Amino acid sequence: MTMPDFAIGKKHDESRQGEAFVSDAPVTRPPLKKFYIESYGCQMNFADSEVVASILQEKGFGFTRHFEEADMIFLNTCSIREKAELTVRKRLTEFRKVKKYNPGLLVGVLGCMAERLKSKFIEEEKLVDLVVGPDAYRTLPGLIEEAESGQKGVNVLLSREETYSDISPIRLNSNGVTAFVSIMRGCNNMCSFCVVPFTRGRERSRDPESILNECNILFEEGYREVTLLGQNVDSYSWQKSPETEMVSFAELLEKVAQISPLLRVRFSTSHPKDITDEVLYTMGKYENICKYIHLPVQSGSTRILQMMNRTYTREWYLSKVNRIRELLPGCGISTDVITGFCTETEEDHTETLSLMEYCEYDLAYMFFYSERPGTLAARRFTDDVAEEVKKRRLQEVVALHRLQSLKSMQKEIGKTLKVLIEGNSKKSDHHWSGRSDNNKVVVFPKSETLQKGDYANVIIESCTAGTLIGKLKI
Ligand code: SAM
Ligand code: SF4
Repeated sequence: MTMPDFAIGKKHDESRQGEAFVSDAPVTRPPLKKFYIESYGCQMNFADSEVVASILQEKGFGFTRHFEEADMIFLNTCSIREKAELTVRKRLTEFRKVKKYNPGLLVGVLGCMAERLKSKFIEEEKLVDLVVGPDAYRTLPGLIEEAESGQKGVNVLLSREETYSDISPIRLNSNGVTAFVSIMRGCNNMCSFCVVPFTRGRERSRDPESILNECNILFEEGYREVTLLGQNVDSYSWQKSPETEMVSFAELLEKVAQISPLLRVRFSTSHPKDITDEVLYTMGKYENICKYIHLPVQSGSTRILQMMNRTYTREWYLSKVNRIRELLPGCGISTDVITGFCTETEEDHTETLSLMEYCEYDLAYMFFYSERPGTLAARRFTDDVAEEVKKRRLQEVVALHRLQSLKSMQKEIGKTLKVLIEGNSKKSDHHWSGRSDNNKVVVFPKSETLQKGDYANVIIESCTAGTLIGKLKI
């Protein structure tokens, strides 16, 4: 188990951190130069790397999965917790060795850390040639030229408009079945612990036409699941002009679901204050909208929630969970929890545990509080919970969640679940691996009639903490 900064599941997948990207896209001409890109952090960052790859490929650059043969190395970084930044700094020192035998090599830092540290990066990490924030990727080819001529390329301007809507991302490390589609960028929420509003700028929604176009193309290419991504998808809102009608998230969701009943639709993340009944009704109306909601709570104590500026209370959150259970019985619910936020007492912590007991989450991403410079909390409050207390509370939260997630898996035994096949199981080429509607990994023996991207009805016979094991229903 990765402790204490614990994160499991698909949203912030520990196993994908630092993943080097490769693509199956056909290469039409020999590349001018080769780039290598590694991604850290949330799904939005992984999706952004696909936009970066598209911008670079358009300019004639080609990707490589081996940094030793690259002309430029990019790290798409995350600032959400201190540990994420330390990982990137460590990785940069490894590239120092490569630069020794390849002095022409360019090293670029992209994403949230670039935005947070700006040109300080170039001063502090002597090795870095390019620093490019999340809204400046279109300028990357120009910045590469500058860097090649010996200047340092920096662009960390944040934009109020940029959504990269006209760029078709190159699917990297894709299984050819599931894909992420960004529907908005930035965040206006200002949760006091969070660095995202500072590194990713103001919230802006992407033109629904371009989203639908991207999803349609994915479906035609054989993809069978799209996950609509945003920091706060329920506040998605698009209006072409003052005369035209506003498109809400529920309407967008419906339009994507209507592409084909064979295309599964997921979304992440929902802020408890914004998710509406309209969204829940839309989910209920379409079989292909997966019944799974990521609804981060952060804390079970209303006092702490207020200090976090989450703008809801414990009771409000619980009423949302009740509403989901009422309108969408069996819907999976996952969450994010932070332990040891400023002033958190044992009583507050107990409230988090009791809220978790009530909600019986299927999946949880759990962290101890990491103060981020410049955030509201860093400016207003003292980070006064001792590190060992934060970690002990995290362990308690993790232990409870483990019990609950095992229970949630065991509940599926005996049921028949519709599974979208994503590929071979990690452990055996004789087994398929896929996910159920409510986002559980299901493994079952292959049959010749099925292939990747097909749906299968699987009878669940047993489970581990992370996987359901079954057999095909004939
Ligand atoms: N927009 C999403 C939301 O509001 O739920 C969350 C986005 S953030 C990338 C993912 C999670 O990281 C948060 O929900 C929170 O639990 C965690 N996180 C953010 N800032 C943190 C901090 N300073 N210390 C520890 N965990 C943090
Ligand atoms: Fe950060 Fe809050 Fe925005 Fe999520 S909603 S990205 S936690 S500020």
